[in-house]
Amino acid sequence: MNIVIAGAGAMGSRFGIMLKQAGENVILVDGWQQHIDEINQNGLKANFNGQDVTEFISAYNQNDLSDVDFSADLVILFTKAMQLDNMLQSLDNMLGKDTIVLCLLNGIGHEDVIKKYVDYDNILLGNTMWTAGMEGPGKVTLFGNGSVDLQNLGEGKEDVAQKVADVLTNADLNARVSSDILTSIYRKACVNGTMNGLCTILDSNMADFGDTSVAKPIVQKIVSEFLAVARAENVFLDEEAVIEQINGCFNRETIGLHHPSMYQDLIINNRLTEIDYINGAIVRKGKEYGVPTPYCEFLTQLIHSKEEIVEAK
Ligand code: NAD
Repeated sequence: MNIVIAGAGAMGSRFGIMLKQAGENVILVDGWQQHIDEINQNGLKANFNGQDVTEFISAYNQNDLSDVDFSADLVILFTKAMQLDNMLQSLDNMLGKDTIVLCLLNGIGHEDVIKKYVDYDNILLGNTMWTAGMEGPGKVTLFGNGSVDLQNLGEGKEDVAQKVADVLTNADLNARVSSDILTSIYRKACVNGTMNGLCTILDSNMADFGDTSVAKPIVQKIVSEFLAVARAENVFLDEEAVIEQINGCFNRETIGLHHPSMYQDLIINNRLTEIDYINGAIVRKGKEYGVPTPYCEFLTQLIHSKEEIVEAK
């Protein structure tokens, strides 16, 4: 299958490497020239579960695709949320009438952006539990296991979703077709919408925040805003189960000592965050549905304030 990985950072590199290793015809499209040059000159390097791996996959700058002759069967979107619109504009001449577009970004509401460029029937929405880290231009770290849930937006397109899931599973990416992807997306957004912003602003790992006397009520307030907006979209989640999943992040024996990815982006790397597509998306949708979202709004403002203070790019 001809596959474009659109956004070849940590996660795009993971999917690119694993799909290439499974024999798929993969290209990478990205906006970071130093990373693209490194991949084209020396290969895409990964520490893959402790083993050093190099894969030679052609990488192209998204602003220079006019001469690229590649008819994509599948595009996997893995930009950061704020880069998505630009990436889709750049891909315009690669998107044929049968090209399937799978979105695996974190956050809520990406379908509203994608459907400006892609026929609704060709869009798959997904959610992944795989992880990956960027070491520097041309180099990523890939540890552990994961899975992908995905669903067709177009009615009667389950066969298309199944075909894509089969291609991913053949590359050991453990994909399955879901019948309620919005529930999974909202559930993951609740975890990101509490751990990411709070630990970033508080300069804390997840366990230390979880141990504070106010962690429980803050988490409960934020989750209740997410779930109220979800309900307005006919997506129903069990609040207790969501909070239990978040409490799992506080466990020092498992992942509690880690800082969430937003902390890495903003505090360590001075990069802009995806807050507008997590808590910020809840604020926007809340206004639309008449749902008050004061905690999400305040957290979004605090993160933007921090982005300005550290001059994040
Ligand atoms: P990433 O930041 O590694 O890459 C996203 C884009 O930013 C890529 O185009 C990359 O080339 C570019 N980029 C990265 N570092 C850069 C730098 N220093 N200078 C300039 N450009 C740079 O993002 P990611 O972690 O691959 O995440 C992609 C999407 O997947 C996001 O929506 C994220 O929330 C989601 N996600 C990430 C993980 C994870 O473990 N990383 C897990 C699940 C979902």
